[in-house]
Amino acid sequence: MMVPQAPGARLRSLGSRATGRGAPWALVLLILLAFPALAEVRLSGSIEQGALVLGQALPGTRLRLDGVPVMVGPDGRFALGFGREANDKAELLIEEPGQSAQTMTLHVTPRSWDIQRIEGLPEKQVTPDPKTLERIKRENEWIADARAHSKPEALFQTGFQRPAEGVVSGVFGSQRILNGQARSPHSGVDFAAPVGAPVLAAADGVVVMAEGDLFYTGQTVMIDHGLGVNTVYAHMSGISVKLGQRVIKGQAIGKVGASGRATGPHLHWGLSVGAVKLDPLSALKFSQ
Ligand SMILES: [Zn+2]
Repeated sequence: MMVPQAPGARLRSLGSRATGRGAPWALVLLILLAFPALAEVRLSGSIEQGALVLGQALPGTRLRLDGVPVMVGPDGRFALGFGREANDKAELLIEEPGQSAQTMTLHVTPRSWDIQRIEGLPEKQVTPDPKTLERIKRENEWIADARAHSKPEALFQTGFQRPAEGVVSGVFGSQRILNGQARSPHSGVDFAAPVGAPVLAAADGVVVMAEGDLFYTGQTVMIDHGLGVNTVYAHMSGISVKLGQRVIKGQAIGKVGASGRATGPHLHWGLSVGAVKLDPLSALKFSQ
């Protein structure tokens, strides 16, 4: 749990000093006008690159993170995502019902990422052919579309769990640079597990993608957990859920495999808030 520095702390210390000197009420009033009541926003999780952070605001509060609207549930719950490249500071604009807007500055802890440079590869291995590029583009559009429609409520509030047994064989954010060309950073975490091992829903949600053959990720399931939070399960050898199906945390959704572009059987697990890809392991703090 990490609570950012509250702007209201300054108001309280200034106020008590002013009254102690013989009630210069005009000064107190001026300070009150300059520093409105502290917004009732609580955050939990570590504010760092790649992390999911959950929050609670007053119902009806409107939020923007660095100008991007944040979905807030009817109960005031919300989720923030700090991407791999997040700046060291982020501004959370808070508009509580009937109050003027306030800004909370969030300090984002940087992380270091595993970068591998590989030179001298044949060019064919580096760049996919135009037909394949076209297919990848089309599939990326489906994926973006599936992510774009999220339920306006915190289906994730019963917490998150690991979706598979097995050691972590690939970490979030690692990147390979092939012949000087930077590939996309690894967008999730890999668990090494045998073909056929169960894949479980990491949290309650609704299946928004159940595809049998995507170029990179093969048999792929995507689950919307509400308020923009989304998980993806890739390279499976079987899918046991259907598009639109409600699932609960720990429910079997398929089997581990090596479909799509995979060098061996494993589960690739991804997490995002909106379009921001996050380290899925950051969600396991919220295991309840
Ligand atoms: Zn992976």
